[in-house]
Formats: sequence, structure tokens, C-alpha cells
Amino acid sequence: MAQSTETTDWVSRYADEVIAESERRAPGKPVVVASGLSPSGPIHLGNLREVMTPHLVADEIRRRGHEVRHLISWDDYDRYRKVPAGVDGVDESWAEHIGKPLTSVPAPKGSAFSNWAEHFKAAMTAALAEMGVEYDGISQTAQYTSGVYREQILHAMRHRGDIDAILAQYRTKKAPAKKSQKPVDEAELEAAEGSGAAGEDDGSAGGAGYFPYKPYCGACGKDLTTVTAYDDDTTELTYTCACGHGETVKLSEFNRGKLVWKVDWPMRWAYEGVIFEPSGVDHSSPGSSFQVGGQIVGIFDGTQPIGPMYAFVGISGMAKMSSSKGGVPTPGDALKIMEPQLLRWLYARRRPNQSFKIAFDQEIQRLYDEWDRLGAKVADGSVLPADAAAHARAVGTAAGELPKTPRPLPYRTLASVADITAGHDEQTRRILSDLDPANPVTSLDEVRPRLDRAEHWITSQVPADQRTVVRAEPDAELLGSLDDAARASLRLLLDGLDTHWSLDGLTHLVYGVPKVQAGFSADATPKELPPEIKVAQRTFFALLYHLLVGKDTGPRLPTLLLAVGADRVRTLLGG
Ligand SMILES: [Zn+2]
Repeated sequence: MAQSTETTDWVSRYADEVIAESERRAPGKPVVVASGLSPSGPIHLGNLREVMTPHLVADEIRRRGHEVRHLISWDDYDRYRKVPAGVDGVDESWAEHIGKPLTSVPAPKGSAFSNWAEHFKAAMTAALAEMGVEYDGISQTAQYTSGVYREQILHAMRHRGDIDAILAQYRTKKAPAKKSQKPVDEAELEAAEGSGAAGEDDGSAGGAGYFPYKPYCGACGKDLTTVTAYDDDTTELTYTCACGHGETVKLSEFNRGKLVWKVDWPMRWAYEGVIFEPSGVDHSSPGSSFQVGGQIVGIFDGTQPIGPMYAFVGISGMAKMSSSKGGVPTPGDALKIMEPQLLRWLYARRRPNQSFKIAFDQEIQRLYDEWDRLGAKVADGSVLPADAAAHARAVGTAAGELPKTPRPLPYRTLASVADITAGHDEQTRRILSDLDPANPVTSLDEVRPRLDRAEHWITSQVPADQRTVVRAEPDAELLGSLDDAARASLRLLLDGLDTHWSLDGLTHLVYGVPKVQAGFSADATPKELPPEIKVAQRTFFALLYHLLVGKDTGPRLPTLLLAVGADRVRTLLGG
């Protein structure tokens, strides 16, 4: 589409480059972009960038009318490396499966899925569907065990000397992690290691020489194997295992093993014709899988993809809450507190080399305000082109718009209401219909799913000591201690409640009371007022908070008053 090519955001620029490269390498063929995910445990929210970067580029290419395949390689034939901490239904007994393929490890207790990999894939698959990510999922277990890569494996074995020579250039350096992101703490380190063969050796270099292939043992099912002999002519491969088992197999018929990671990845670039596959920043280091792969891919007659390094995506707020439970946030956790559009926007608006944080704390309210302001600018046409592009990429894909909240009330208002009502539907509906009596909310469906996200945020992320609890009984002691001026201010408020019962009305009223008390009009603007009025307003607001919720502060007062309800406000304010 013409308008897409006029935008200058990063997605558009990569789409230009990827289309041109695809035309050059594979004219007339679909453009291929790729991501890799390892379901070795809960797939961390940080790993979503591995998918979103190629997704956004693929989507732009699709919008321009080209055929695109976005491959997501599920690296489920990788070895099970460790038992992740804090996963429900899993205990230390899972350690006995270390060394088996992820698809041969039992799923956590109570899971509906047949194995470990399927269990953790399912959560990611559901999140990607909700976000509108279209892709071809490829199970590496299915590929390897059905012999899809047979020719590539035999080819790699024939060229093991060449591969060994390339790897030898880097062997003195410490092997970096696979596609993991730079971890921020131990808990995240464990999660990030979920992405694959971090720390995997680059092939067994035993007495018999170097082999880029590792069988899973026929007796114990693990990869504690060493290739001891290989015959290029007969393809007979002999291995021994730490369990004591050993056998000779014909690699031309054998399907229970895989290429080592540093060979596996470039083999697949060549096999699939991948044009674009980004990876984490740790790949910029010498000896990284991406750099080494760039040399090894030639052995398979392939070319390295365009592969930008993407920066770390952090989490604000959730880490400390979750680490107490041992877990790490997943994309599914983010989608419980924010709509998919907002999450897409966070990725679309930042270039891959810019790091950012996904807010699970109070920051999410500011982020939503910003998102709504952007939506308003798009609606009135005042938006800048790059911002408009990011917005368009967030609200939908080439396939159409994602389902949206029909009436997107401010997230912070919804969160305050959810805070005060503790999710009570009828009370919530009453309060929301009072916000704007001229155009009342008549059904909660109008404000869903944003309302559900705000409710979930309040209940799952806001600590108990920050929640709002409306007083059950009036604070008789405080009411009895008030001076005449304070009593008069409460009287002014109570007298105005009925005629000001809307969000705008109550805003006018609570700010107006201190002005009227000081002898000014309730409509007086800040310029017409002495600075002391601000002090009087603060004092008045603090008094209201103490009488209503027993604290110095709380949700915005107009929202709080609406939420508490007129009758209860009168009772608590001694009216
Ligand atoms: Zn064994």
C-alpha cells in the first residue's frame, strides 16, 4: 500500500531491505523471516522481542502485498538442561530427565499436554494468537525425528573438518549463550536460559575427532553420548553413552539425534532460505552463534540472514513480586493486565536496538494515558507519520484490526474503580454510569476487555498496603476534633453533592470548595487566586482522604466519591 511506504519508521526501513534482499536471493519466492523459541520452561516475556521484531517486519511486507512466511522454530529437540525453579507441578524429581529432548520430558503434574515442550509452547501459542501474530510453527523434534534434515546431517558429517576449522578460530573464547537475552538477575537468568542450547558445546571433540552431530542414546534417551567412529562411505556411526550403552547405527537411516547448535542454526538458514532473523545483543560478541553461523552457512550453500541485534526488554514492577513465587512474567502475564494493542505498540514504537521496559507497576497507568493521547491524535489527524505507523502496527495486522474495547475509558479510572469495588460488577457499572450521566455506560461489555485488564492489574500487581479500603464507619474522633472552618468546608461539599454527581461535576466541586471558603468564585481560575489556595486545597483533600479511606492519599477524589456513593459519603463525612 502506498501509505506504508511513505512512513519512515524502523519497520518500514527493514521491510524495504528484506524485500530487496529476498528478490536478489530468491526471486519470485515468498519472503522468509524467522524466530526461534525454546520451550525449556515458561517462555519469558523478554523473549517476545525474538518474535515481535520479525513479526512486525513480516506484517509490513504482507501489507505491501508480498507473500511472507514467518517461521517460528520451536527448539523442542534441544536437551533438557535443568529443572526451572518455581514452576507449578514440577519438583526436583524432574532432574532425572536432564539430557533428554524437551519433547521426551513429562509435562508438569496436572498439565493437559503430552510433554514438557508442548506444555510451555501452548502458553506462548495462546499469547501469540491473542496478539495477532501469524506464523508457521516448526517443531524441530518433528523435523529431526522424521529425517527431514538427513541430507544436511550427512553433508555436515562429510564436512566436519571444515566446520571444526571454523569453530577452532573461536574455541579459546568462552562460548556465549544461544539466543538468550542478557539476564538482569538470577531468576531471569534461569528463564533466559530457557531459550535453548545456552552453554552447549559445539560438538564432541573426543579421541576420534570432531563430529557436529550428537545422538540421543537408545537406552537412556539422553545425549550423554560420545561419537567414537564414523564411516563416510557406509554412514555407520558408533557412539557410547555415559549410561554404559553403546551401538553402531547407520546415519543414513537414523533419526534420533541432532546437529550441535552452532551448526544446526546456520543449516536451517540455508534449508529454509531465511532472509531476516534478529537475535539478542549478546550475539554481537566474537564467537557468537550468529557470527560463527555466518561462516558455517556457506558449507550448506546458504547465506546469512539480515540479523539485527535486538536490545534487552526489561520488566518494571513484576520482577520483585514474581521472584517471591519463583516465577517470571510471560507474555500471557502481560496480556492479563494490558490489551494486546498496547503490548504490540511497545515493540512497534522502539527500534530493535533500543531497550525498554514493560510496566507491571504504576507506570502502566501513564503508559495507557500516552496510548490514549496517541489514539486521539490519530483520530483528529494531528499525529506525526512515524507515530501513526506505530499506532497502525499496534491496532492490527494485514489481516485486519484486533478486537478492541468499544468504549476505552481511561485505564487509571478503571483501575481506581476496580480498586474501590474489588471487582464487584454491579457497583462498577453504577460508578461507571455516573462518570458521565449525559452518556452513561449502560453495560460493562462496553468497557471490556480494558476493564478486565485494569481489574486484574489491581488484584495481581498492586500490593495490599497500596490498595484503597473505604472506611466501614465514620472516623468519629477526627470528625469531633474539626474546627469550624473544616466543618464548613465539609458542609459546602455535602450541599453540592447532588447537583455535581458526575466526574466533571465533582471535579469542579472538590476544587471549588476551598475557593468559595476563601471568598472567591468556584469558577475562579488559578491566575485569579492567591497561592495559598493551593495549600487550602491540599489540606481539604487530605481531610477527605482521611475521612473516606483513612490515609493521606488515594485515587483521584472525584472518582473516589463516585465509587463510594453519595449516601456513604454523607455518612463518612458526618453529614
Ligand atoms: Zn544412555
